[in-house]
Amino acid sequence: MSKIKVKNTIVEMNGDEMTRIIWNLIKKTLILSYLDVKLETYDLGLDHRNETGDQVTIDAAQAIKKHKVGVKCSTITPDEGRVKEYQLTKQWKSPNGTIRNYLKGTIFRKPIIVKNIRPHVCGWKKPIIVGRHAFGDLYRSQELRIPEPGVTTLCYTPNSRPDWSQSVKLFEFSQPGIIMGLHNTDKSIQDFAATCMNYALSEKMDLWFSVKDTISKTYHRHFKQIFAEVFEGYHARFEEAGINYRYLLIDDAVAQVIKSKGGFIWALRNYDGDVMSDMVAAGFGSLGMMTSVLVSPTGAFEYEAAHGTVKRHFYEYKKGNPTSTNSVASIFAWTGAIRKRGELDETPDVVHFADVLEETVIDLIEQGVVTKDLTHLIQPSITKYETTESFLEKIATNLDRRLNG
Ligand code: NAP
Ligand code: MG
Repeated sequence: MSKIKVKNTIVEMNGDEMTRIIWNLIKKTLILSYLDVKLETYDLGLDHRNETGDQVTIDAAQAIKKHKVGVKCSTITPDEGRVKEYQLTKQWKSPNGTIRNYLKGTIFRKPIIVKNIRPHVCGWKKPIIVGRHAFGDLYRSQELRIPEPGVTTLCYTPNSRPDWSQSVKLFEFSQPGIIMGLHNTDKSIQDFAATCMNYALSEKMDLWFSVKDTISKTYHRHFKQIFAEVFEGYHARFEEAGINYRYLLIDDAVAQVIKSKGGFIWALRNYDGDVMSDMVAAGFGSLGMMTSVLVSPTGAFEYEAAHGTVKRHFYEYKKGNPTSTNSVASIFAWTGAIRKRGELDETPDVVHFADVLEETVIDLIEQGVVTKDLTHLIQPSITKYETTESFLEKIATNLDRRLNG
């Protein structure tokens, strides 16, 4: 069998711990055996980030912007423990944060649905994709501890008219307390709205957006208004694609999400998206079955598994003990990138390969061939499970059978 030719480059980022082990196996047995693809590889493993003063992460982000499609292995975000463990020269920032800040993107988290895993929320039949605005708000807030009675104000001074400042009283403290200031920008919210609408069109799914505009009449309402304005430019395309945009008050949305069958994208502000994406992940069942994609307003896509580097399994692996780590989300990161590359290059055989690999994985799980994390989630539940390696070997055998007959 000759390999399928991929026209343009995919940016590949290697990572850490157990996901690095899985990554190399996937690449060798499931990808490079079938695709003739030019990978531009950046090693984001913590040692290499440390050796390069984290320049490798910035280089990778620039490469994704240039080539438009990237696929990333999970990476360690070092805490103090990791600084000692890896003898780091610095507590390097989260690579995902660095790449996100550079690409100014929105993260969409999508669960992988299989027939024999019933979500904890039993009405959910189709994926719910959470789109989280990844700029500003709580993650760039300023906070102050108020130690004793006093007045606090919010103040704005225009650069062009320093004499023309505005302020509002925040609160008059008669006892100790706390305050916080949030910000966002029109440009970032517009980009967020446009990215969500483009993604809804590419996935052919309805788009929901929710904030608390009844209470926050300036801040939250501004998000709602910008979404409405941006949607003006998408109205016709949504109609043509047969999909809808809905604004819902966030409390209403939460209730409707639980009662829904799924099958929509739920756009949320930064903090709401952080919390609700974990809620939706738990509702669907397993972190090992959750993928994520960063979509930038300039049209670059970066795919990865939503879970971390599965440290506990890695330490077992290092001791030589058998492990049973679920590689599905990492495989779907690869298929997401390969499918997107094929779509952008207009090479249907590449898109088809991604479809076949995904079908192979889903079929195996539906036959009850799973890693340990899924044994108690699938119906009927089973006790037999695959090791990290045997699960991947079975996928490789079945993929080969499908592609080579
Ligand atoms: P984690 O890798 O998400 O794993 C937490 C636990 O969830 C695992 O111990 C395991 O449970 C279960 N799990 C997650 N993924 C699994 C999979 N594919 N197959 C089977 N079980 C899975 O989080 P962590 O171990 O707490 O964090 C390790 C490192 O990941 C941290 O250094 C953190 O910075 C990093 N991280 C990176 C990313 C990213 O790059 N996107 C995201 C989150 C965290 P059991 O132990 O019960 O088997
Ligand atoms: Mg979270």
